Amino acid sequence: MTGFPITPASPVVFADALPASCDLVIVGAGIIGICAAIFAADRGLKVVVCEKGRVAGEQSSRNWGWIRQQGRDLGELPIVMEAIGHWRAFEAELGDDTLGLRWTGILKASRTETHLARSAEWLRLAKPFGVDTRMVSRAEMRDMVPGAAVDYAGGVFTPSDGRAEPWVAVSALARLAQARGVAIREACAVRGLEVSGGQISGVDTERGRIGTPQVIVAAGAWSRLFLAPYGVHIPQLSVLSSVASTDPVPGLFAGGFSDGDYAFRTRADGGLTLAPGSEHDVFIGPDAFASLFRYMSTLRQDFRSTHFRPWAPRGFPDGWTTPRRWTGESPFEALRILSPRPNMATLNRARVALERAFPQAGPLRFRTVWAGMIDTLPDVVPVIDRVAALPGLILATGMAGHGFGIGPGVGRVLADMAMGQPVGHDLSRFRFVRFSDGSPVDFGAAL
Ligand SMILES: Cc1cc2nc3c(=O)[nH]c(=O)nc-3n(C[C@H](O)[C@H](O)[C@H](O)COP(=O)(O)OP(=O)(O)OC[C@H]3O[C@@H](n4cnc5c(N)ncnc54)[C@H](O)[C@@H]3O)c2cc1C
Repeated sequence: MTGFPITPASPVVFADALPASCDLVIVGAGIIGICAAIFAADRGLKVVVCEKGRVAGEQSSRNWGWIRQQGRDLGELPIVMEAIGHWRAFEAELGDDTLGLRWTGILKASRTETHLARSAEWLRLAKPFGVDTRMVSRAEMRDMVPGAAVDYAGGVFTPSDGRAEPWVAVSALARLAQARGVAIREACAVRGLEVSGGQISGVDTERGRIGTPQVIVAAGAWSRLFLAPYGVHIPQLSVLSSVASTDPVPGLFAGGFSDGDYAFRTRADGGLTLAPGSEHDVFIGPDAFASLFRYMSTLRQDFRSTHFRPWAPRGFPDGWTTPRRWTGESPFEALRILSPRPNMATLNRARVALERAFPQAGPLRFRTVWAGMIDTLPDVVPVIDRVAALPGLILATGMAGHGFGIGPGVGRVLADMAMGQPVGHDLSRFRFVRFSDGSPVDFGAAL
């Protein structure tokens, strides 16, 4: 994992000159911004991507790398299925194992019949979409995960799911975008939008103005803070998710595996990327506090695995002292890369749970530990939509824990949206106004 985690000390690699004007500015060089740029350039648009820190410095390099159809919200499912085709095409174009793609499948194990029944119900609903997911019996589990000390009631397996190595994959895709003519500029915060005559006319960056009729905001955990000055309010919350890499562990399941207490996948170097199954931390800041009632039903489902921390760290998007309005230097320059400290207690619990389930794997040693802030919305699906009140503004945020794998699919959708063309999927589930038109929170069928 050379060069990981990405920090403000990491060298600036993408430093293209900024034009005075272009067709589309993308705020944020995570997987979503980079993929949107690739497809928009393919369609002939002149595209600029501005990144306050480094390409994929935040969530997009810190995630588990799972490319997962299994258990997905039914609105997202066709887009992630499309994304798999794009991942394969990128792989064919880049060659040389640049992305670290492996199609080794994802297996979700169930300790109880009740848990297993939930997976079976999801599969019943997902089958018409054409997924290759299948249920796994108790006996078959013993063959798929030999040496398991847990008598799993069964599981659900998706052979066509896969994974990539996120901290190299997104940079490789950014180079592909550059080769298509996209200008990418790291260490270049967008301070705000320029609005003329009620529509987008440009962006104000720390390196000057860029005129543009369209902006995609793919700013991850910063989107709420970025958009609020324009009256565009999204009830976004960010949760801290901790991860560890371990020494190589031979003989474990080769794909992605989860059992509720922990989740792992084998990395290209033979070690595991290991994380708690569902435990995460929520920092309380003014925005989280204001949105808490919207998250009540989400939190009720997940209460025991949520650790509340009353003080969002200084400079975080929802910090108590983070400015909500600014002129000149913005909060996006004050904190270039969101790099929270991992919660070691949750990581150690995951390690112990894995050692108990697979005694042959232990004792496990952590090589690197890290954390990322996952941006989410009350119904745990993103906003992918135009803002009717501000023509030229497109939102692509709130990807929850799913944005990496689906990234190329969302990127293609955004490019067609920017072109004003049909996007080929029903995006009503991801509409912006669902938070303000009285719609009840709909959790869908996701596992
Ligand atoms: C620990 C962890 C595990 C995960 N596991 C998985 C997984 O296995 N599979 C999966 O599919 N997903 C997973 N996810 C979720 C996935 O990583 C995210 O959904 C995805 O990376 C989001 O991509 P993004 O481009 O929307 O945001 P980000 O990657 O957060 O990128 C947003 C970028 O915008 C930049 N930015 C913000 N404001 C500005 C500004 N004003 N000007 C310029 N730049 C700005 C930020 O610096 C940042 O680089 C995981 C996430 C975490 C943290």
